[in-house]
Amino acid sequence: MEAKVAELRTRLQDISDIGGAISILRWDQYSYMPKGGAASRARQVAALARIAHGLQTAPRLGELLSELAAEVATRPAEDELRGIVLEAKRDYDRGVRVPERFVVERSAHTAAAYEAWCGAREANDYRVAEPFLHRSVELSREYSSFFPEFKHPADIHIDDSEPGMTAELLRTLFAELRAQLVPIVETLCACAPPADDFLFRHFPSADQVAFGLDVIRRFGFDFDRGRQDFSPHPYSTTISLGDVRITTNINEHDLMDGLSSTLHESGHGMYQQGIRPVFDGTPLSYGASTGVHESQARLWENLVGRSREFWTYYFPKLADTFPGQLGGVSLEQLVRAINVVRRSKVRTNADEVTYNLHVVIRFDLELALMTGELSTADLAEAWRERYRADLGITDLTDKEAVLQDVHWYDGLLGGSFHGYAIGNVLAAQFFDAALAACPDIPAEIAAGRFAALHGWLRDNIYQHGKMFTPAELAMRATGKPMSVEPFIRYLRAKYGRLYGVAL
Ligand code: ZN
Repeated sequence: MEAKVAELRTRLQDISDIGGAISILRWDQYSYMPKGGAASRARQVAALARIAHGLQTAPRLGELLSELAAEVATRPAEDELRGIVLEAKRDYDRGVRVPERFVVERSAHTAAAYEAWCGAREANDYRVAEPFLHRSVELSREYSSFFPEFKHPADIHIDDSEPGMTAELLRTLFAELRAQLVPIVETLCACAPPADDFLFRHFPSADQVAFGLDVIRRFGFDFDRGRQDFSPHPYSTTISLGDVRITTNINEHDLMDGLSSTLHESGHGMYQQGIRPVFDGTPLSYGASTGVHESQARLWENLVGRSREFWTYYFPKLADTFPGQLGGVSLEQLVRAINVVRRSKVRTNADEVTYNLHVVIRFDLELALMTGELSTADLAEAWRERYRADLGITDLTDKEAVLQDVHWYDGLLGGSFHGYAIGNVLAAQFFDAALAACPDIPAEIAAGRFAALHGWLRDNIYQHGKMFTPAELAMRATGKPMSVEPFIRYLRAKYGRLYGVAL
């Protein structure tokens, strides 16, 4: 048994190391690589993806996993080896269903589609990217065809990123979320919005970066095991558990844009840094799901970073950093300004209340693309129609609409959008549980201390990596199944108070 475990760990480590090498090539592509490197980078990543796929589907790995799975099956759910073996087996069983030529083509196409998206954004013209998106949809559907046992073509993509979820379950969850959100949005958008013009003055990049770095250092982001750089679409990536990278994107004329990204990505980064070291080099060295990962990012970005308590500590420092720009602005005005609720064009800039409506639109469009009900040729128009109908927004350019973010242009479709909404829902549920366990957290935050919150998250979420499914993790950490109730309650309490209305 010991020899088998040692062999398994070596094999998994190799797969993980190649994954880490791909991650650093992609990180470089998204941050520093000159345009001229695109073709060779696509080739390099595709070559590594082919090697990883070979290791991932090696018959010897399959044998080892079958033998070990039988031996660990009766161990308790908390057993680390059991977790590693079962997750690796799940990856193996899925990996062998996908032909190598598909893996290579997907990888090469992903790189090309990303470049096309960058070009299309520059030209503000969806037609530049449309053929690439068309191909992405074809590849996504082809991937689904390898798993005919799933009912909806998006189901395998959803299950890959959110184990246990299906298109149908998400439709139900989103219908409930939407029904609760729409009246709240109506009420808040009917109020006169608080002044927020001072957030759009000129805030020099270097000062913004220094401020953001100070915040995330205090949050507990470990710079000995991570770093922050810049990319057009902020994101986080893990090279290994000792090397977790995040990026941000500073807008000198929008104070909260870069800061939100920094806080958000630090949440992803701290999750990775908090995973138990024994899981490094195994398939458990990631979060439980994209939704749970997103919950950790949204928690620090919004439940902490847009709270009165956080700014009680940080506002004097912000005012010192930008005395000219924020002269005469009070703490109360700042808190109201950074929590303005308005129907906006771009999801990433949306407030906490309207944000999920963007996700629901995007999810519906994505499902329609996956089933073939909607073609990529008609997508730009369908997008505009939904924004008009659901958010009352007109006159969208391609850059503000169908090209607004990198999703759909950096991989397959069908597996990511729901994660954003699940993230918001779970963030509130986890935060609630943390407050119940440590009632001092708000007072600590107001004093610039984040260790109690970080500690609760590390103990209850981070350390487990991908050991438990999202449903199991929610139950363990909060004692309840996933529910939209804490999120809606949080919105009602916070925005009712900020706007002085009953919600
Ligand atoms: Zn995120």
